[in-house]
Amino acid sequence: MDKSLLIVGVGFMGGSFALALRRGGFQGSIYGIDINSVTIDRAKELGVIDEGGTELSLTKRFSPDYVIFSSPVRTFRQIAGEIKGYIRRETVVTDLGSVKGKLVFDLEGILGGRFVGSHPIAGTEKSGVEHSFPELFENKKVVITPTERTEKGALDEVVKLWELTGGKVEFMDPMLHDWVFGAVSHLPHAVAFALIDALIEMSNEVDLFKYPGGGFKDFTRIAASDPVMWRDIFLENKDNILRAIDMYSNSLQKLRNLIEREEESALTEYLREAKQRRMSLE
Ligand code: NAD
Repeated sequence: MDKSLLIVGVGFMGGSFALALRRGGFQGSIYGIDINSVTIDRAKELGVIDEGGTELSLTKRFSPDYVIFSSPVRTFRQIAGEIKGYIRRETVVTDLGSVKGKLVFDLEGILGGRFVGSHPIAGTEKSGVEHSFPELFENKKVVITPTERTEKGALDEVVKLWELTGGKVEFMDPMLHDWVFGAVSHLPHAVAFALIDALIEMSNEVDLFKYPGGGFKDFTRIAASDPVMWRDIFLENKDNILRAIDMYSNSLQKLRNLIEREEESALTEYLREAKQRRMSLE
């Protein structure tokens, strides 16, 4: 494949996508645009991109066959509006964003049916291009969210790109995507951030962070994730997150009641069911 590709937002995910494509045999030029010039220099040094810069207008010169949005999700609409004037009619556009839903329809409204939403179910709490690595997507699910308007040719091209990275493609409705990942990804991140916040509040007398056990560290690893990225995800998937937080609060309240009333057998049952569900994931 010797077509060229432009990554907008050359961070951990965008960088890993570029490295994974190279590893999969992508031969064409890989360009990068990022608001941070240090990131662009670093990405070039690391061999993640061939050429890049900080201005979206460079897109005209790069004339890419594919554009991938890989910045925080709330930047996508503005980037799409601007880049539209710099790309060719046949350029295919996709993204790596964690939220789909209405955002997909808005981006389609700006770019037309050559926009195809995608979300790799792969990642870590690390951010920045220096942490990117080519195996990130190997055997990981990639959820692609076509709509009635999606062009068949564009969809096929995006599937091909993901297959080169080693990802396993699945299709899902964009709205359903946001409920599913609001529950299994966005809620756990909200809970991890909130747990740290609770311990800050409880640290008046003793600095509780001096005594982190293994469980605490495992549970809160994801609270070390990038704040701007997560702010954007929470705001962009607001309705689903609010619903998930409310349902989680009910479960926590149920647990609180069982403890308060010392309902031994019901408490054991609550914990046993949770343990069994968790173990079925292994
Ligand atoms: P990151 O912080 O490592 O990279 C984001 C990059 O975007 C940075 O280099 C930043 O300078 C750049 N940027 C910010 N605003 C920009 C703008 N307006 N124009 C151009 N560049 C801009 O973050 P990441 O982990 O690579 O996340 C990128 C995207 O991938 C997000 O949309 C996120 O939702 C999605 N995602 C992340 C993970 C994960 O685990 N990190 C998993 C799945 C999807």
